[in-house]
Amino acid sequence: MNRREMWTLDIYWLIGALILLAVAIVVLVFLWTVLRAWLWQKRQRHSQSKYYKQTHRADGRPYPPVAAGICEQCGRSRKKIYYTESGPKLCLECYEIFWRDEAMKEAMNNGS
Ligand SMILES: [Zn+2]
Repeated sequence: MNRREMWTLDIYWLIGALILLAVAIVVLVFLWTVLRAWLWQKRQRHSQSKYYKQTHRADGRPYPPVAAGICEQCGRSRKKIYYTESGPKLCLECYEIFWRDEAMKEAMNNGS
């Protein structure tokens, strides 16, 4: 092998290495993008379910409008008082009992 042939061989090795490097970079960028998209989706789902839990009761119905005020049931003043359709203004604790009661009455009415 003379010098010229060795130089040509080196160039081929170099080109091969560069192509491999380029492919590796493309694959890494692709994986990084996929990973970020996946993480983003996960965060979206998480925040959506968090929002849903904050705005919906355990039975899936939305909470009534809320404002700061005093609970008519227990008399405590709260930042979040639920204004129910049927009348009373209730804090979260009293409202949880109230809507479960209402749901039970509704279920019994539908049953008879
Ligand atoms: Zn209350």
